[in-house]
This record gives sequence, structure tokens and C-alpha cells, in this order.
Amino acid sequence: MTNNIEIFKKASRFIPGGVNSPVRAFLSVGGTPKFIEKASGPYIWDIEGKKYIDYVGSWGPAILGHAHPEVIEAVTKAAEYGLSFGAPTKGEVILAEMLVSRIPSIDKIRLVNSGTEATMTAIRLARGYTGRTKIVKFEGCYHGHSDSLLVKAGSGLLTFGNPSSAGVPDNFVKDTISLEYNNSDIVKEVFQKYGHEIACIIVEPIAGNMNMVKPKKGFLEDLRTITEQHKSLLIFDEVMTGFRVGPTGVQGMLNILPDITTFAKIIGGGMPIGAIGGTNKIMSNLAPEGKVYQAGTLSGNPVAVAAGIKTLEIIERSGFYERLSIQTEKLSSGLQSIGRKNGFKISSDYIGGMFGLYFCEKIPTSFEETKNFNSDLFKKFFNSMLDKGVYLSPSAFEAGFVSSSHTDDVIDETLHIADKSFKEISQFI
Ligand SMILES: *Cc1c(COP(=O)(O)O)cnc(C)c1O
Repeated sequence: MTNNIEIFKKASRFIPGGVNSPVRAFLSVGGTPKFIEKASGPYIWDIEGKKYIDYVGSWGPAILGHAHPEVIEAVTKAAEYGLSFGAPTKGEVILAEMLVSRIPSIDKIRLVNSGTEATMTAIRLARGYTGRTKIVKFEGCYHGHSDSLLVKAGSGLLTFGNPSSAGVPDNFVKDTISLEYNNSDIVKEVFQKYGHEIACIIVEPIAGNMNMVKPKKGFLEDLRTITEQHKSLLIFDEVMTGFRVGPTGVQGMLNILPDITTFAKIIGGGMPIGAIGGTNKIMSNLAPEGKVYQAGTLSGNPVAVAAGIKTLEIIERSGFYERLSIQTEKLSSGLQSIGRKNGFKISSDYIGGMFGLYFCEKIPTSFEETKNFNSDLFKKFFNSMLDKGVYLSPSAFEAGFVSSSHTDDVIDETLHIADKSFKEISQFI
């Protein structure tokens, strides 16, 4: 098992599609997924020994780069004390206090094992708290794979052209209203009609699962006002944006306080984790204090918590986000200008350590616009970059991620390779 093609064949015999999460398959770009052997800083190596500069970063968590020595040390130490106890630990309290003290809208936090669990619980909590049934989400936003949220969703569902999932009975999604992102008017209309039945709005405050789409000025503010008027809850799904765009989430950056926030990815530093936070009044509805049930055998796992604590400690060091932001800007504006110089109609945008590269002339602001790109060119560019040692997301519907280990040299090398790739594929424009 030393060759990607051979091992993928074998994987496909034993694992559906050969992968344990659909976005890892290379279905939309062609070819065989790379089986990764190890990673360090900005680099990953596949089992054939080929090295890549990585801009997927485990889909978000790797904000410090891979295998950061301090995080590895913390995880190793925690593991030596035992992997799981099913009883409370000190680490959980430390991580909870860190999150509560950093994120402006939350008083209390419950740890779970993934982003999916966090959003699923957030919805249940909103329904339990308000006693209402309907929920509002936005097209192209992805909130994990629980039933009621798999309606016109982003990420892998969008990549494979099947934005809702089979196996979800109509009855389970009849109370999910999916609206256009960045369109407050339609939200107002829907609330005028159904406001008293709507438990919550759930939104990615910066969308990162239909490529990156930023909120228009006023959109999130409008969601806050509308939900307040109708006594519905506002949920910010900051699973991706939390600690990715800045130290206090999108909510701290824009000073818009949601009622409930979900986290995962970075807060586990690469280990499986998720979290739901909110005000005391709302969080007191969760079991065992309240009547909304939620539980987990491995929740607050001591090894995951140790990785999370160390990661949050490191990103709090002075100048972290300023540097991260400068590197991301260099990559984003560099890709755009090199692409355009080579005759491509492309655009790019970024915030904090996250970026979007769009194979269309204008930066998209909606789900409809984000679907309007040259997928053939994207595919060719992806494969050319991969071949030359740059690992981008194998889908045009995902944001890209830069880490603090992406130094000037790494970014320069990436741009140099991008120039070669754009030249190579320019015959196809
Ligand atoms: C990744 C993601 C999720 C799902 O998290 P998992 O840990 O993969 O279950 C939910 N919401 C957003 C915004 C995400 O980016």
C-alpha cells in the first residue's frame, strides 16, 4: 500500500467511495485522492512521498499549521494520563472559560464532538427554548449533516450537485425554510408571514461552504433586528469562522451578538470537538439543568480539550492575526494578479486566515453567483497545482485556509507555481 491508486482501489472495496467524508473524494476534479502519510507546518506528504504546500488545513482546524510542536506536546501529555473517563475533567473547565471570555455573546458553553453535533443541538435548543418549530437557513450554507439542515446545503452536497440528501423524509424538513443568502428583504417577507412560528435563523456569518461569500453590509444586522422583533433566536454557525477570521469570531469583529453560537474545527486544534454557547438564560435549558436533551460519551474528551486549549493559547499571542491576515492577503491578491496577468477572468477575496479564489470576474455575493464560474478551468488549475506540489481544496465550493506556518517563502513558492500553472492552462481559455 505505497501507491495512491492502489490504495484507493483497496479503500473503495472497504469504504463507501473510498473515503470517510465525501469532500475528500476527487469526484469534481478527477483523479485519485492523495492518501496522506504525515504533515508538518504548511506541508503534507502523501504515501508516495510527494510533498505539497497545503491550503486545506484539514478543512479549517490547522490554523497553526500541522503538528505544531506545542500542541503535539500537550496532546501527548494528556494521552499519557488516559484517553477518556466519562467523567468531568479540569481541562473542560479551562477550555470553557477560555471560550466564554473570548466570545462576546456567550455565558456558558457545552462541548460536543463535531460541528454537526453542535448545530444539531443548537437547533434543538432554539426549538425547545422558543417552543416553535420552523427554522430558517440560507442556500449554500452548510451546517453539518443532521436531517433538518440538509436542505439546499453547501460543501460536498453542492460539489456533487445534490444540495439536499436522500434518506431525509419530507416530514423532517418541512419546517426548514431555505432562503437566499445576503437578501434581507426575503427574510423580512417570510417573517411577516411565519414569524411567530420561527424558532431561529441559523447562518454562517461569513459563508465558507459555497466558496467564500461575505455578508453584504447590513445583512447580519438585519437578521439580528428581524429575529429580535419576532422573538426568534439568531444562531451564528462559527464552526469555520470562529478563531479563523479573528480572535472573537465574526460576532466580535462586527459587533453583532447572536443568541447561540456554534464552534468546532479550530477550537479542537485538529482533534474532534464541537461546542454550543449562548446566554445563561438560553443555555440553562440544556440537560441536566433544563429539558432539552443532549449528551455524548466522548464529549469534552481530555485529549481533544488539551489540543484546543494549547491552540487557543498560541493564537492569543500578540500580532498573531495581523501576521496571518498579511500572509492571506499576499496569497489572495497574488493569485488574482498572476491569474489576470495570464489572461484569466478570476477574482479573489480574503479575511483573516481564510480566502476565496473564484474562476469568474467578480467576487460572488450570493449562492446563484457562486455557481457561475468556469468549472473546467478550475479543474485544470487544481490538477496542475497539485501536480506541481500545491494542495488546494478539490472543490470550487470551499474556502481556502492559510496558517501561521505559511511564511513569505511558502507563499512566494505557491505564487511561483501558480504562475506556471496558469501559463500551462492558458491555452484552454
Ligand atoms: C465544517 C462545518 C460544519 C460541520 O462540522 P463537522 O465537524 O464536519 O461536523 C458545520 N458548520 C460549518 C459552518 C462548517 O464549516
